Amino acid sequence: MVVAKAWVLKKSFDGFPQISDFDLKKIELPNLKDGGEQKLLLESVFLSVDPYMRLYSQWDMKTGDVMIGTQVARIVESKNPAFAVGAFVVGNSGWRTHFISDGKDLEPLPSSWPESLPKSLALGTVGMPGLTAYFGLLEVCKMKPGETVLVNAAAGAVGSVVGQLAKIWGCKVVGSAGSDDKVAYLKKIGFDEAFNYKTVKSLEEALRKASPDGYDCFFDNVGGEFASIAINQMKKYGRIAICGAISQYNDSVPQKGPYVQIPMIIKELRMEGFIVSRWNNRREEGQKALLKWVMEGKVKYHEQVTEGFENMPMAFIGMLEGENLGKAVVKV
Ligand code: NDP
Repeated sequence: MVVAKAWVLKKSFDGFPQISDFDLKKIELPNLKDGGEQKLLLESVFLSVDPYMRLYSQWDMKTGDVMIGTQVARIVESKNPAFAVGAFVVGNSGWRTHFISDGKDLEPLPSSWPESLPKSLALGTVGMPGLTAYFGLLEVCKMKPGETVLVNAAAGAVGSVVGQLAKIWGCKVVGSAGSDDKVAYLKKIGFDEAFNYKTVKSLEEALRKASPDGYDCFFDNVGGEFASIAINQMKKYGRIAICGAISQYNDSVPQKGPYVQIPMIIKELRMEGFIVSRWNNRREEGQKALLKWVMEGKVKYHEQVTEGFENMPMAFIGMLEGENLGKAVVKV
């Protein structure tokens, strides 16, 4: 019998998550049975910490629930011929060291996954965040070569891929991030312009200086005040992809405007929210493209790896505070 460790929500988040909101529990897993649902035993190797966990916790979780989340896991025991012992998959089983699955919710890593590539990238650049950048740019921004793309939280998991894909597709790219090291990284990976939104005197001026003609596309990961300022610098017929609103996820009291209607009318803008799962049926296409660009060195990646399952809450809180460069993951 295997005893799994799992992080549960001890207390619903109120404002910014605290370490004391989490509890580490032990859960005894039953032995696998022939037939029935319990066909695979898996161990988590890398776990993801993502902003959506904070947002979705208010709807999808109650006190005592295991924290939601995905992992790269290895098959330890199998009674399902479709999954060999030792194979790696992406699971959606929350913050657990071990879990049991019937296999239906598991995504095998692409068969072309190179040995040289960290498997954790299946949670980042070649996983959900990379796909978010790919489909958000392609299908929501619908950017064209020669256009100017703005992305915020640009040094993170989604943002860093957005900027690099927009460059591959022939755009000028402007990014903002919360530290000088992140800004230096953005320039290193090919952003045309980048600035530290925490230290610029005026966000409005920084955006204007980076692209005096304005922006055709705005890939918004942040929302709130940043978005309210950026919307006024969109070009006529500009497109805004609402990917995230991390500046609002910890609010107990909703932020108030400025409101979007007037710039939307005057500039005839299009604004569309999206969730990456809309393109689940094209996941293979996106993953194949991302994997190819990573292997060719056209898309660079960086991971913020926290060691130790016991440090998951710390890694999650650290990511919300902006400690991560690239994708934040935890190595068990
Ligand atoms: P990141 O790797 O970008 O990590 C989060 C980053 O957000 C931090 O590093 C920090 O960077 C920045 N941040 C935190 N608080 C603020 C704030 N108040 N103002 C501005 N920036 C802030 O995370 P992801 O790439 O995984 O996610 C980025 C966004 O995309 C999130 O909003 C997320 O919810 C969204 N998302 C949406 C998906 C969809 O399907 N719609 C799918 C995946 C992600 P910094 O140092 O720059 O402040």
